[in-house]
Amino acid sequence: MSNSTGILTPVRETQVFVPELVYFEPSALDYPKGQKILEWAKQQGLPIQMTTSHNRITNLPGDSELAKYRIAKRTLVVGIRKTLKFDQSKPSAEYAIPIATGCMAHCHYCYLQTTLGAKPYIRIYVNTNDILKQAAQYIEERAPEITRFEAACTSDPVGLEHISGSLKECIEFMGQQPLGRLRFVTKFHHVEPLLDAKHNKHTRIRFSVNANYVIKHFEPGTSSFSERITAAQKIAAAGYPLGFIIAPIIWHEGWEEGYADLIKRLSEVLPNESISDLTFELIQHRFTKTAKNIIQQRYPKTKLEMDENNRKYKWGRWGQGKYVYPDEQAKLLKEFISGQITEHFPEAKIEYFT
Ligand code: SF4
Repeated sequence: MSNSTGILTPVRETQVFVPELVYFEPSALDYPKGQKILEWAKQQGLPIQMTTSHNRITNLPGDSELAKYRIAKRTLVVGIRKTLKFDQSKPSAEYAIPIATGCMAHCHYCYLQTTLGAKPYIRIYVNTNDILKQAAQYIEERAPEITRFEAACTSDPVGLEHISGSLKECIEFMGQQPLGRLRFVTKFHHVEPLLDAKHNKHTRIRFSVNANYVIKHFEPGTSSFSERITAAQKIAAAGYPLGFIIAPIIWHEGWEEGYADLIKRLSEVLPNESISDLTFELIQHRFTKTAKNIIQQRYPKTKLEMDENNRKYKWGRWGQGKYVYPDEQAKLLKEFISGQITEHFPEAKIEYFT
């Protein structure tokens, strides 16, 4: 549905996240952000508890692993980020900037299920100044090269911005860094708090989009496609560099129509001439053996296809390899989707297919 301005009007709005339980590390309350979140949690009437460490929440309610997992996804832990060594974040950036960990959505394929292991609860770090100081140091080390920071490696920070305000701080910090750039990806549409940030075009905001089939079957708890696209229009209007990540690209019956339709719908609401400096990133679906086991326990009815016999094994850096599509299929996916992008967005840059 669209109104006279061409902006899509979602049928039913996805609400902002409100946790069911909130924990604080005592020292988090020494920070203004910790105090602000405490006030917010009180106003919301949420049960508040203290914890000695944001890494050790052991008493979550629930009489089964699945019930505990579900409540963990609705539990917010407010703490201090002690590890200030940033991970690498290839191929989209040089470093991952750690402002939050965990996500309330339930995408079946999400790699956080494996990387966060037994700690799927959501953590917000209140010592943003320490984190930004560390980022400044990384920028200095790499000068005169540009250093890019990815803020969505361990979370979907847009979905938490109404609680933390951390993205806006990072955006405005990077806006002042001649050699620093920020980027993040989201499946949420709650971008209002970011629209007036002084970004200086140093932050690229990407929306994760996909064929209808993928959004419908594998992305519960996220904003709808039309909500994401409305948000993308607002982001473009606010002058931010904009991008789309199509991930995970999934081979399914009718995939060609599905992905052609996706690009066509994007081009209808975001005509090529309305956007300068648009990027696309393409990531095919992959899984590890560990991920497959976890996904099958947590989403036992999932339609996510994870048959190792249909995949190619790709050795990984840390010993555990992953299953990707065989070369022939990957090539077809890459060429078809890239072709659609070039046709509808001739000036956009396809940054990579992986
Ligand atoms: Fe994972 Fe992103 Fe889905 Fe959250 S929105 S569950 S981070 S894939």
